[in-house]
Amino acid sequence: MADRAVDFLLIGGWAAGHCASTLRREGADGSILLVGREQHLPYERPPLSKEFLRGEASVEDTYVNGADWYEQNDVEVLTETSVTSLDAEERAAKLQSRETVRFAKALLATGARVNILHHLEGAQLDGIHYLRTIGNSEGIRAEAQDAGHVVLIGGSFIGTEVAASLTAMGVKCTIVMLEEVTFERIFGEEPGRYFHGILESHGIEILGGEELDSFVGDGRVRAIKTKSGKEIECGAVVIGAGVHPDTMLAERAGLAVDNGITCDEKLQTSVEGIFSAGDVCSYQSVIHGRRLRVEHWDVGLQQGQHAAKAMMGSEDPYRVVPYFFSDLADWASLESIGPALDWDELIWRGTADSGKFLVWYLNGGKVAGALSVDRSEDLEHARRLLESGADVSGEEDALADVDSDLETVGSS
Ligand SMILES: Cc1cc2nc3c(=O)[nH]c(=O)nc-3n(C[C@H](O)[C@H](O)[C@H](O)COP(=O)(O)OP(=O)(O)OC[C@H]3O[C@@H](n4cnc5c(N)ncnc54)[C@H](O)[C@@H]3O)c2cc1C
Repeated sequence: MADRAVDFLLIGGWAAGHCASTLRREGADGSILLVGREQHLPYERPPLSKEFLRGEASVEDTYVNGADWYEQNDVEVLTETSVTSLDAEERAAKLQSRETVRFAKALLATGARVNILHHLEGAQLDGIHYLRTIGNSEGIRAEAQDAGHVVLIGGSFIGTEVAASLTAMGVKCTIVMLEEVTFERIFGEEPGRYFHGILESHGIEILGGEELDSFVGDGRVRAIKTKSGKEIECGAVVIGAGVHPDTMLAERAGLAVDNGITCDEKLQTSVEGIFSAGDVCSYQSVIHGRRLRVEHWDVGLQQGQHAAKAMMGSEDPYRVVPYFFSDLADWASLESIGPALDWDELIWRGTADSGKFLVWYLNGGKVAGALSVDRSEDLEHARRLLESGADVSGEEDALADVDSDLETVGSS
């Protein structure tokens, strides 16, 4: 017997919050219950490695909606509450409080969990941090100043953004990473070198081609060791070793799962009326013609909005080119569309020296992605070309020439 019934059950944070906003904006008048495991109302995570970490933004600044909005829009939010199980057939969810909630439609936007390096020696020492939540960011901020020297593990977004923020706060930072060049795996070596140079020019030491071996300390970390034998003294460590989709609830409910919750092009899971969005959602992309799962802020937002419309009966496929941004303190910002997983040609529009450029990633003569530093205006064209799948072979000169009109590229 269910304790109660709702029309829309939304499980998660960022994407779920946007789903709730869209349901109300689009005129859904049924009951909405949003359940999230964290202490806070649904919030955005990008500031946790940027403004919030540096103490320039408050917790409330990160919220999707303030507490007033939920009250005024009659959306019930249960924070610090896990959904422990889901009966897809009965359309009922069990909450940590043991309450059972029946639902007509549900959203599973359970996000991602950080990869924890618990197999390494010393992994239990104090002063070793991961970064996913507001509490994690507060913990890093509280320790960083006294730590004297912080080691960042990983040369991708978390490692570089946190290194930049802490350095801007006056903390000495060293990045230790497997790659030789920061962002090399995502953007390729040459574009990665641009960001690598910026980080080094602000005093960040970068040790590439190094694999973490163990943590050293007695109670508290005082150094890390690499497989090549280097020992780097530090007062704290922040690990950015990637995340994995949190599919636990979906798996237990018997939904199809394969590196994320398997969804169709509408973002519906293998069970009718149950949708997914954000980091956990592996959807059939009508733009890319393949399955995609993207761990980005804008994708969570857009998919939360799309799922709301799908719950209200829209049959439209999700058709948005994934977009991503990142900031290295106020030293450099990047924007990217894609994701370009493979490319066979890379074309620069503008130079790294000018600090204003767009890099095109082409695969088989088609735009697979683009990276912009201070050329946001070009991204619209990159989006259009990626979405249309236009063959741009032979138009490389126009793509590269900063004075050329991109409007006409791909139209022949
Ligand atoms: C530090 C940091 C910086 C970032 N910076 C950028 C950036 O600059 N640009 C960018 O594009 N992206 C950035 N991202 C990525 C972006 O924040 C994520 O893509 C986005 O948060 C995904 O939203 P989501 O709703 O899918 O997941 P989340 O925001 O993780 O929300 C999922 C929520 O569901 C909860 N949950 C899971 N299971 C259950 C359950 N069974 N019951 C109840 N609740 C449950 C989780 O606890 C979590 O609160 C950053 C991420 C981090 C961590």
